[in-house]
Amino acid sequence: MRTLFIYPEFPKTFWSYEKILELVDRKVLLPPLGLVTVAALLPQHWDMKLVDRNVREVREDEWAWAELVVISGMIVQKADMAEQIARAKARGLPVAVGGPFASSTPDAPELDGADFKVLDEGEITLPLFVAALERGETSGRFTADGEKPDVTSTPVPRYDLLELDAYSEMSVQFSRGCPFNCEFCDIIVLYGRKPRTKAPEQLIAELQRLYDLGWRRSVFLVDDNFIGNKRNVKQLLPALRQWQIEHGYPFSFATEASVDLAADQELMDLMTECRFESVFLGIETPDAASLETARKLQNTRSSLEESVEKITASGLRVMAGFIIGFDGEQRGAGNRIVEFVTRTGIPHAMMGMLQALPNTAMWTRLEQEGRLIQDTAAAKGVNQTNLLNFLPTRPIQDIATEYMEAFSALYEPNAYIDRVYSYFLKLPPQRYKQILRQQAAHAAGGAMPSESAQTLTPNGKKGMSWVDLRALGIVVWRQGIKRNTRWRFWRALAGMWRHNPARFKGFISILAHSEHFLEYRQIVRSEIQEQLAGLPPDPSHSLMVAPPQMVAG
Ligand code: SF4
Repeated sequence: MRTLFIYPEFPKTFWSYEKILELVDRKVLLPPLGLVTVAALLPQHWDMKLVDRNVREVREDEWAWAELVVISGMIVQKADMAEQIARAKARGLPVAVGGPFASSTPDAPELDGADFKVLDEGEITLPLFVAALERGETSGRFTADGEKPDVTSTPVPRYDLLELDAYSEMSVQFSRGCPFNCEFCDIIVLYGRKPRTKAPEQLIAELQRLYDLGWRRSVFLVDDNFIGNKRNVKQLLPALRQWQIEHGYPFSFATEASVDLAADQELMDLMTECRFESVFLGIETPDAASLETARKLQNTRSSLEESVEKITASGLRVMAGFIIGFDGEQRGAGNRIVEFVTRTGIPHAMMGMLQALPNTAMWTRLEQEGRLIQDTAAAKGVNQTNLLNFLPTRPIQDIATEYMEAFSALYEPNAYIDRVYSYFLKLPPQRYKQILRQQAAHAAGGAMPSESAQTLTPNGKKGMSWVDLRALGIVVWRQGIKRNTRWRFWRALAGMWRHNPARFKGFISILAHSEHFLEYRQIVRSEIQEQLAGLPPDPSHSLMVAPPQMVAG
């Protein structure tokens, strides 16, 4: 079966990082891990091609070659998903759809043209789909009926189908599911609250596959909560550290984890010894009452600020997500987020307005309360600039304006440099470099090489590439000469070189991200203003019948 996998296009978002990708000469941040996993689960004698529409268009010869089209995507990709289904059908090709969007809303109008809906986790439903094809069936819907597969037999994803040079990072997955119970979260709906992990040797085999294909950059562990099953993670990490040492630390890692990571020093140390460099935390808000409303109780058990400090002191750079628009939220929530981010120094703080995702506990509650907005621009998709898709308990204009102002304050170029500088001063030297030095000393019979010795460079890479140099030149020109950030820029550079040279390179790279935020600030402002202008004339546009204690300002 000649199978064409298509990954639909993403709209421009906070995480699409176009300006940064341009600087480093890549097209997309992450590959479609779900689709390459599906490809590995289908019969391996099938011929397969994959086109990521975020990298390039599907060529006419690829449409002509295909006998079956498989499309998978998330809710934010639904518009292009519909477009690709229509293009395939116009050429008379059978289409199968799957992935998070199809699994959570199989009857969405965007999926109407698909012949096969292969829902839930593919380990269970793909064999049903293949069996139906073999029986000559031309349509069908396959579900796992609530069953969650054991992922210890999931094969190594077909990374060979990707155009590796187009991506800034590769992705792997160790676990699915999360033990927590946040009201707005669809992960626990899709993957359950009992985290299922792969075996350590499986993940190592995936890394080895990437290594054999020539990959030598960052790898993102896309787990919903990497530390959801701490016992199994602690079995993985020593094996991962050993593999990294044996291969000269070719990969740096990033992942997502719950805030309780801060309470486990052993786990953080193991992560940094494996060369985990950053971790994304769902902090959501510093307002304890909102965290309780959202059932994100794990974030209320200890000081969020102290947790960020501990993780940072361990050597992991914290990225964090924040949300505005919780029920009962008091006026000034946007400012409180800005103050929290400024105090902790977190360089990358992602912000969004709360969205109700289909089938979540929050969706069900709001549906029962008659508060979902289904037919407006807000309901069209989930993006950082979409207004809330439900009636909030305070005026939507206030929430949107606070969001816009907070985003703008966080990424004001001078404030950004100050924050990144103060944060990077706190980061200790990387532990994996210490391990590399010890290895080199051992090999040389005792003497410990200095920090600057060539042996410290992972995997024998020498110096900066032409692309790195060009990116550095652009950043220096824009932030150090052209803009009004020039004094701060040079002062921070000199300070970093003097006080924390071990983190100098990472510091420059995070400063470069300002190029993206600067542009995205404008996008946030104009898109929100446009949506606010389109709201009905109702002066509050909030829930007028909310209990008095839930209505702010
Ligand atoms: S901690 Fe994160 S992944 Fe887990 S339930 Fe909460 S939002 Fe979902």
